[in-house]
Order: sequence, then C-alpha cells, then structure tokens
Amino acid sequence: MADAEGGEVSFFATRDVKATRKPHRCEGCGKLIEAAAPAWYFSLLQDGEFYAGYYHPDCRAAEVELNDLQGNYGGEDWTALSLIPEEPEDKAWLIEAHPVVAARMGLTGGAA
Ligand SMILES: [Zn+2]
Repeated sequence: MADAEGGEVSFFATRDVKATRKPHRCEGCGKLIEAAAPAWYFSLLQDGEFYAGYYHPDCRAAEVELNDLQGNYGGEDWTALSLIPEEPEDKAWLIEAHPVVAARMGLTGGAA
C-alpha cells in the first residue's frame, strides 16, 4: 500500500531506558508508557528528518519477533507494530504470541 519510498536512513540509534522520567506515548501500541517504567528509545535520521520515540519493551520485542518471522531486516519492509491491526494474519499472530501487547492495543480474538 502506501509505503514510504526510498527513505534513506543515515543514522539509527537505540537505547534501553530503565525508568523514563516522564510518561511517553508508545510508538507501537499508541498507549501511554507510565513515568518511571522501562522503555525502549530510538532515534533516527531519514531523508534529513529526525525521528525519535519510545516503545514499551514488550511492544518492541513483539515487533522485532514478527519481522524476524517475516524475514524483514528494517527499511521499507519493516512491519511497524502500529500497522498490525490492519493485517489480519499479523493480528492473529500477535494475539497468539503476545497476548499482553494485543490486549493493550485493544485487539481480541474471535470472529476475524
Ligand atoms: Zn506499547
């Protein structure tokens, strides 16, 4: 569908944060990461634009696991956790493999 085209990532850094100083919105599930909770932080430069954000550690783990399963290694092929609700197969996988993350995103099993 509407994949970003030819986005060149010239810088990418990540960091495990033991305890955030203030609440952050998780880029994966879209829910709040409480202050003082652990988080995964990333920053990157793509086509001259700087992006940075936080993930719940288990949201990040789920996203990495899905992309490992799909054989994606970043870049344009990467499936962001936030897109999973729109992909029935990925959604079913998430509910099965990461029920806590799925529940946080408001995803439930049942009639697909
Ligand atoms: Zn999250």
